[in-house]
Order: sequence, then structure tokens, then C-alpha cells
Amino acid sequence: LYNQIQDLKGNIRVYCRVRPFLHGQASNMSTISRIDDQNITIASASKNGKDARRNFTFNKVFGPTATQEEIFSDTQPLIQSVLDGYNVCIFAYGQTGSGKTHTMSGPKELNEKTIGVNYRALNDLFYLSEQQIRNSTNKGLSVPDANIVPVRSTAEVIEIMNIGQKNRAVSSTAMNDRSSRSHSCLTIHVQGKELTSGNMLRGCMHLVDLAGSERVDKSEVKGDRLKEAQHINKSLAALGDVIASLAQKSAHVPYRNSKLTQLLQDSLGGQAKTLMFVHMSPEADALSETLSTLKFAERVATV
Ligand code: ADP
Ligand code: MG
Repeated sequence: LYNQIQDLKGNIRVYCRVRPFLHGQASNMSTISRIDDQNITIASASKNGKDARRNFTFNKVFGPTATQEEIFSDTQPLIQSVLDGYNVCIFAYGQTGSGKTHTMSGPKELNEKTIGVNYRALNDLFYLSEQQIRNSTNKGLSVPDANIVPVRSTAEVIEIMNIGQKNRAVSSTAMNDRSSRSHSCLTIHVQGKELTSGNMLRGCMHLVDLAGSERVDKSEVKGDRLKEAQHINKSLAALGDVIASLAQKSAHVPYRNSKLTQLLQDSLGGQAKTLMFVHMSPEADALSETLSTLKFAERVATV
């Protein structure tokens, strides 16, 4: 039933999440003029002084007060899909500081309420796999790095993820002094035997916290950092092209234009299910990045 519902809704979904103001910033500096379940309207003063409004429609819009639980409850059906043998990709997209890591992993202080999609998804996978595929010969869930690491609990995965986090390139830019200039991808392979038919089922899930989508010029970076930023923007553009052509059901899908899309090829398109969380900051000074983020998201959304 889960998968029937998913199929009806299409294989690519885009959820928009707006983070709250930080450090008690004044709410009258917000760019959001209206939010409902599927729409967000951005307001900006145009050149002639008149208010310009632009509406965007997504499969779901989460406002600044949405909790981690609420976010995950609309993600959860995908976890069941992985155990049913589907490949799933969950992305977090948005400019640095917009809440990507908050959605995927959570804030620094992690507890049951604040944990993000990664931990919740893994908890569900372990829980569901214990219920369903107890008789299988599987070696548990595994996280590939250079090697595939068999894991048996969420705690073990968290440990591996922390090591990955430390390896992640973090460098200073004008945007954010701890901005992550790399994509972080956690891949979980699941295999099990269907109890009724004895068929082997293989599914996999990629949980991807993408590098910041902000444009290169804004970060005022030079040299190696500039090259890196251009490379990142190219891979994000390639990802957008792939998802957009899947959404439009194009005959040709340009997977080969970046390492990122090559790596995820098996889990994008075909029977695979894709969910993109598009993040935005509510502040007026983020307006131009917010608009380009939402336009990117609109292009890949099939609402
Ligand atoms: P990104 O990964 O996109 O660079 P972060 O997830 O690090 O952004 O978020 C930037 C800051 O905003 C962090 O301090 C984070 O805890 C906070 N934040 C982001 N989203 C939320 C949210 N929904 N609720 C509360 N705080 C948030
Ligand atoms: Mg981050």
C-alpha cells in the first residue's frame, strides 16, 4: 500500500523547509509573505518600490515551526520502500546556513526530539528489518566507504558518520566561517529475503547533505577555494539537470555530467524514489539566494 501511494504521487518529490530566525532576529525582516501546506509566497521590494510577490508550489511546505518529527513523518514511507527493494535518495539542498544539516542530522545537541532524518531513517530500518527479514541470511545494513562496513545498530552507524563528518572539508568563506564545501553522502544497502516467495530483495538508500548552493561570487573566494566552489556549483547544476529531466520524463538523462550523479545513477530514475528537501533562510538579506534556491527546486518539482 505504501508503494502504491508513493507511485500515485510520482517518484520525485520536493519538500520546502524554512528555518526559523536565529539569535532573535526581527521577524519583520522576513521574505515570506505567506505559507500554506503546499505553497510559499516570497515578497521583495522591487526596483520601482512596489512589492513583488512570487509564489512557489511544492509537494509540501514546512514553515519555521515544523518539528523534526513532523519532517520525518512525511519521509517515513520511503523507509519502508527501501525494505521492499526500492532505491531511495533523500537530498538536502540550500544555501549555507539554511538548515540542511539540521534536517538530515540535527543540531549539535542531539536528543530524541532533535535528531534528524538520518538517525530516524536508520532507526526505522533496523526496527522494520527486525520485524520483517529475521530469517534472511543478510549481513545487516552496510555503509560503504572505501570498504563496506557491516553495521548492526544505529549507534554503530552514528559512529561511522561522525568519522565521515571529521573527514569532511570545512573551510572559511565570507558566507559562513564553518561552511561545508563538500557533499556528504551516507549510503545504506539493505538486502533480505521475502518470507513468502523466498526472493531476494535488495534496496538502497542514499542520504545526501549537499554542499551549500550559494553562488561563487558571493563567497568572495579565490584560488583553490574558487575552483572548489565552481566544481560544487557544477555538480549541483548537474544534479538539477538529472532530476529535472527525470521529472519531465525525458528520453535522455544526463547522469554523466558529474561524479555525484554518476554515483547516484542507480538510485535516481527508473523505479527509484527521490525526495529533495529544499531549505531556505527567511532573512531579507538572503532574498536573492532564496529565489534562486526556490527556482532550482521548482524546476525539479512535479507537483
Ligand atoms: P546548513 O547545513 O544548511 O549550512 P545548518 O543546518 O547548519 O545549515 O543550520 C544553520 C543554523 O541554523 C544551525 O545553528 C542550526 O542549528 C540552525 N537551524 C537550522 N534549521 C533549524 C530549524 N529548523 N530549527 C532550529 N534551528 C535551525
Ligand atoms: Mg551543513
